[in-house]
Amino acid sequence: MPPNDHPYDAYFEYVGNLHIHSRYSDGAAAVHEIARSAKQVGLDFIILNDHSYMAEYLHLQDEGFYDGLVVLLGLEIGGRYHHYLAYDIKEMISGRSLGPQEVIDRVNAQGGFGFFAHPFEKGMPFSEKSLAYTWNDLSVKGYTGVCIWNFSSRWKERIKTVFHGLFFLLFKSQFLKPPSRKTLSFWDKLCQQKKTAGIGGSDAHGSLFKWHGIRLKPLSYEYLLNSINVHILLYKPLSEDFAEAKAAIYEALRQGRAFIVHENLASARGFKYYYVSDEGWNLTMGEERPFQTGTLFIKIPKEGEIRLIRDGTVERRWRGNQVSFRVKQKGVYRVEVYCHLSVFGWRPWIFSNPIYLR
Ligand SMILES: [Zn+2]
Ligand SMILES: [Zn+2]
Repeated sequence: MPPNDHPYDAYFEYVGNLHIHSRYSDGAAAVHEIARSAKQVGLDFIILNDHSYMAEYLHLQDEGFYDGLVVLLGLEIGGRYHHYLAYDIKEMISGRSLGPQEVIDRVNAQGGFGFFAHPFEKGMPFSEKSLAYTWNDLSVKGYTGVCIWNFSSRWKERIKTVFHGLFFLLFKSQFLKPPSRKTLSFWDKLCQQKKTAGIGGSDAHGSLFKWHGIRLKPLSYEYLLNSINVHILLYKPLSEDFAEAKAAIYEALRQGRAFIVHENLASARGFKYYYVSDEGWNLTMGEERPFQTGTLFIKIPKEGEIRLIRDGTVERRWRGNQVSFRVKQKGVYRVEVYCHLSVFGWRPWIFSNPIYLR
């Protein structure tokens, strides 16, 4: 069924974790071990993005169903100032020397697609060796979207001293920062020009951290695979045929028919955000159509603070779990939801892709 005519209550929701590193680059575990952890935390799919300059091959033979979990392999390609999360590629793209536009073009030439990985990251202030891998040339073209929320990047930015390290290790879920304002405003501006999908990622490495004889694994796979997840909406249940399942997952990510969740706070399965026009057609996240008056509906699985953002500005805030909003003007509308934790207050939880009413 074509988009726009699909009934808003008939999507099939699947939860995955993206941007995972394995032993093929600088991660600490093998693909099947990561798949086992993902299965344990209840995910439906995972996508690995090993660094192309560290991995020799694109190990597509490792893709498949692992005890019902879909495992896909992309890459993280690029040099010092452009890390690109590439998906649906058919063969290895190597070379740290490729410029940012070249990376995007090579991915597109293979029928793949991709996202800026962490375009405005700040690095870890505590470690002088910690570099911020920002994306500097924002004039590039042809990318699909932006990873708006990277767990590892956002977590690192809080570590200014040993004390901060210990504190944010204990309360890593409770104090995780939302996507940065810079990233969100960049994304909002892109979306106003044209549809630009947003995703989130864990950037899981499972690495050991060594400091003056102390060895610890601050962010394990088990933890990170249930941190920043991406929920996709499919028109049909996920196929048992691997090629079909892979195509359906990639199509939802390309279109941005998805929302991004900090799942350690609470599961967001069942979150709904859709538009019903007065003429009766409807849209969900990642879909667009010329504007006609209608109503936006937002349902969340538990009470939260809901913010409706129109063209980058907060249009309305509510507390509750089910709200609606009459839309009288065109715009790009997305939703943020904050979840209340006693002591810690309102914490960032769900970030939807926009509904585009042009
Ligand atoms: Zn990176
Ligand atoms: Zn990475």
